[in-house]
Amino acid sequence: MQRRKFIKNTLTGLTLPLIPPALISCEDTIVTPKDKTVIVIGAGIAGLAAAKKLTENGFDVKVLESQEKVGGRLRTNRSLGIAFDEGASWIHGVNKNPITTLAQESGMTTFETVDENRKSYDIGGKIRTAAIYNSAEDELDSIIGSMMKKGSPSESFETVFKRLYPQKFNDRLWRFFLSSYITFDLGDLDKLSSTLYDAGEEFGGAEKIATNGYDTIPNYLAKGLNIQLNERVTMIDYSAEKIKITHNSTITEADYVIVTVPLGVLKNNVIQFLPNLPQNKQNAIQKIGMNCVNKFLLTWDKAFWDDVQYISYTPEERDKFNYFVNIKKFNPATNALMTFAYANYARQTESMSDAQIINEIMKHLRDMYGSNTPNPTNLLRTKWQSNPNTYGSYSFTAVGTEMQHFDDLAATLNNRVFFAGEHTEIDYFSTAHGAYLSGIREADKIIDL
Ligand SMILES: Cc1cc2nc3c(=O)[nH]c(=O)nc-3n(C[C@H](O)[C@H](O)[C@H](O)COP(=O)(O)OP(=O)(O)OC[C@H]3O[C@@H](n4cnc5c(N)ncnc54)[C@H](O)[C@@H]3O)c2cc1C
Repeated sequence: MQRRKFIKNTLTGLTLPLIPPALISCEDTIVTPKDKTVIVIGAGIAGLAAAKKLTENGFDVKVLESQEKVGGRLRTNRSLGIAFDEGASWIHGVNKNPITTLAQESGMTTFETVDENRKSYDIGGKIRTAAIYNSAEDELDSIIGSMMKKGSPSESFETVFKRLYPQKFNDRLWRFFLSSYITFDLGDLDKLSSTLYDAGEEFGGAEKIATNGYDTIPNYLAKGLNIQLNERVTMIDYSAEKIKITHNSTITEADYVIVTVPLGVLKNNVIQFLPNLPQNKQNAIQKIGMNCVNKFLLTWDKAFWDDVQYISYTPEERDKFNYFVNIKKFNPATNALMTFAYANYARQTESMSDAQIINEIMKHLRDMYGSNTPNPTNLLRTKWQSNPNTYGSYSFTAVGTEMQHFDDLAATLNNRVFFAGEHTEIDYFSTAHGAYLSGIREADKIIDL
């Protein structure tokens, strides 16, 4: 409830004014924020949002980032002359979404995507009628709206769905829905909670896809901030009054630390905390799930596919290159498709060669568009699971997750070690806007001190 109130305040611009508040020390001398040092770990959107707000409020802020550039999971590859967003692509619901404002301020251009602008193929290149697709989709909506009542905390979405709808579970169109609607958004079907899969809030309004690169936003937020790149943090010692942060072979001291590294990084114990993190935080790190979604961009000299925004294909195997975004719709000079792999199949793709990936994708495209369909001229791909800066794509409510765990991840240690990042945002976890709001939330906590 309190968090909702915070978000409401943030969205209506009622957060604290940007006037640096004076801090009163125990000795009654005035201490300005400038005397307080803050280290922000991670230059993703959460870390940058916090660093910008604290810097604007007069704090002495330094950001330590393990990679060669800012943005984290808002990362754009322009090596082919077009913007391939390796992480987030969409603004999910533009109404009152802080990313909408940030897009306008930063110059990120967008294109409204419409789910119904699509064509669906079954195996053998058979076109599925819109009537069949739409009525199954309506049924899915109603199942999603009610299935949690029939689930239990110890059962996965897959277990409960299979029990209730065995025929649908084996139907190719339904397998596609389970994959590209549920697993893509929410996590591994066999690990996803059957009672909490629907948790969280959403913004209303259109879905918009970034067209000139989502990294436009982090690049804008990073302007003027003190950011040290290629600095991997390995230890946070908060046992004494000054916090000691070990990064590469250096130790930096600070009054406050904001940890924004992804849940996957916390799960893999990349950072050692001294003293150890409290048991409830360790438990939350273990219980909340980390999904894996990989993205693939393919280009050709000439387009051979349908002139629609989305092309879906319903193979026997779930989670495998079943959904194609037609990049040409918003980038007419480019003949490119973007496709996806989810969950365990996504993890498997990371050990496949480019030739193997192309071969598997082309099997699907040739089944739809004919055996003479040419191989692509280029492939760009992601490997989010083995990426040591993330170890996965985004958090989800796994079996064993309780909503309290998100608040446990967000909880502050000794009023000095703070935590932000999408996985700490109880209402909007797993999204770019959730990550942004979490950074503002933690900056406000420090300002309020
Ligand atoms: C494939 C994919 C698709 C997505 N699609 C969408 C979408 O369409 N819409 C949407 O709203 N959201 C989407 N998301 C989610 C969104 O991208 C994330 O929720 C958001 O970007 C997370 O921001 P963050 O600041 O919490 O974490 P990050 O962006 O991951 O930032 C954390 C930073 O910490 C750094 N770091 C890690 N370890 C260390 C260390 N030891 N020391 C120092 N620095 C470290 C990392 O390099 C990174 O820069 C998607 C994500 C992925 C992966």
